[in-house]
Amino acid sequence: IKKVGSDIEIARAAKMQPVEKIAEKLGIPEKHLFRYGPSKAKVDLHYVDSLKSRPDGKLILVTAITPTPAGEGKTTTTVGLGDGLNRIGKKAIICLREPSLGPCFGVKGGAAGGGYAQVVPMEDINLHFTGDFHAIGTANNLLAALIDNHIYWGNELGIDPRRISWRRVLDMNDRALRSIVSSLGGVANGYPREDGFDITVASEVMAIFCLASDLDDLTRRLGNIIVAYTRDRKPVYARDLKAEGPMTVLLKDALAPNLVQTLENNPAFIHGGPFANIAHGCNSVIATRSALKLADYVVTEAGFGADLGAEKFFDIKCRKTGLKPSAAVIVATIRALKMHGGVAKEDLGKENVEALKKGLENLARHVENVKRFGVPPVVAINRFVADTDAELAALKQACAGLGTEAIECTHWADGSAGTEALAHRVVQIAESGKSSFQTLYPDDMPLWDKVRTIAKSLYGASDIIADKKVRDQFAEFQKAGFGHYPICVAKTQYSFSTDSNLKGAPSNHVVPVREVKLSAGAEFLVVICGEIMTMPGLPKVPSANHIKLNAQGEVEGLF
Ligand code: ADP
Ligand code: MG
Repeated sequence: IKKVGSDIEIARAAKMQPVEKIAEKLGIPEKHLFRYGPSKAKVDLHYVDSLKSRPDGKLILVTAITPTPAGEGKTTTTVGLGDGLNRIGKKAIICLREPSLGPCFGVKGGAAGGGYAQVVPMEDINLHFTGDFHAIGTANNLLAALIDNHIYWGNELGIDPRRISWRRVLDMNDRALRSIVSSLGGVANGYPREDGFDITVASEVMAIFCLASDLDDLTRRLGNIIVAYTRDRKPVYARDLKAEGPMTVLLKDALAPNLVQTLENNPAFIHGGPFANIAHGCNSVIATRSALKLADYVVTEAGFGADLGAEKFFDIKCRKTGLKPSAAVIVATIRALKMHGGVAKEDLGKENVEALKKGLENLARHVENVKRFGVPPVVAINRFVADTDAELAALKQACAGLGTEAIECTHWADGSAGTEALAHRVVQIAESGKSSFQTLYPDDMPLWDKVRTIAKSLYGASDIIADKKVRDQFAEFQKAGFGHYPICVAKTQYSFSTDSNLKGAPSNHVVPVREVKLSAGAEFLVVICGEIMTMPGLPKVPSANHIKLNAQGEVEGLF
């Protein structure tokens, strides 16, 4: 495939249409748009609500193999497939997460797709966008302020300051804030205690925002957040602090989905953005549901590899909302497969069919895993300039052996022309009605067994282990009436195991459950496996070092 310009060069050259034109394609009257400049708008929640009785379009999930740190092109492929479906005459819309500023200034750069498969305005989407993350962070931090304020004014609820589980958040990679001591400086500043920050996209408010079906559901869930425990271990809820009202007020405008467009002027909802390694990894339920009412095909991305993103998309989002995906696209790249076959990062650009074949075990397991959910997969080979014909042929042949078709896609270089074949295949699968979606485990399976089921059947683990303290917590949550919750696994995205160096498809490893956290508002149990940061740090040379305004006042360096 041909080499193309940088993402930002291509994005800047886009011929954007006014956002009301994009809305018109979906039949959304202009009066229901709240515009943020000429090319971004929120769609009025009342209007969204009025669509309820319409039939749903078909939902297509884009997931991937276990990625390299650069990402294998899920967002790029989601955009490319959305454009491809529109190109072959289908009314399609894409649903994506909003990018976090953490990775934007860290390792990964922007998250609005790449090459000729991007959503625009790219800079805006990557930087602040419509302010949703600001609203989410502020709502989170209001609750934190209310907790410390309550203690300051006499602590009527009897909150044990050592047992406050609610942390502050910031949408930035900032390791200095992981663990802090707050309220220092004297009597007027309250009671000093150990505290800390998470990145906004890891917060329960973000998860709640993305799972809430409407404003009432948002309020109910916010009230159910457990913020702390008393000395005799009774939970203290956000509603005990009367926090759900003001938090909803801060979030009410943000809850309306954001409409933008692709480079090919097709509609895209970009709304909510939980990380997939430490949260549930899918865009908002409100955006997905609205999209299904407005288009015949909805293409959506779930974060990282299928072990994390797809699993949580199916077992949390689809379970909780009744969404039934019609097909899944598993994005694979030759470079990542070679990495799984043992090739070092520096050598990924060189042809190596043998390593590729070895690395295929990673793809094979993801294919098998997606099939367990009853959703038929198709593999999209996201083609890179360095890929050779011999490697491509080997990959296609191997996929046929897995009983799955692998389709070469060149959307990064060619836009929708590069995903026509994939689009036709996706339509064929979706129309066939072959999908019979099922969750991996039933609601009534005990919490511990749910984690074990995920680890054994999807990760290839022989078992899960945890210290007595953690196992006791499982038992407590089970007893306290939270046993029906689904599991939100937090683990590394770089391996099926909890060791990011174990590539390919490791088997018989043991998954250590290090910590467990109840998200009573999001209505799931966060199970932290191995070492995983809820506040990332920046690398030695962060992307931020390359980001600047040029002489024309344009942003440069967002990849
Ligand atoms: P993911 O969503 O899986 O994390 P992205 O779609 O965000 O991955 O892609 C990650 C980066 O890789 C982006 O900067 C994008 O421009 C680049 N990229 C994606 N596909 C290709 C490709 N086929 N060739 C070159 N670069 C690509
Ligand atoms: Mg992505």
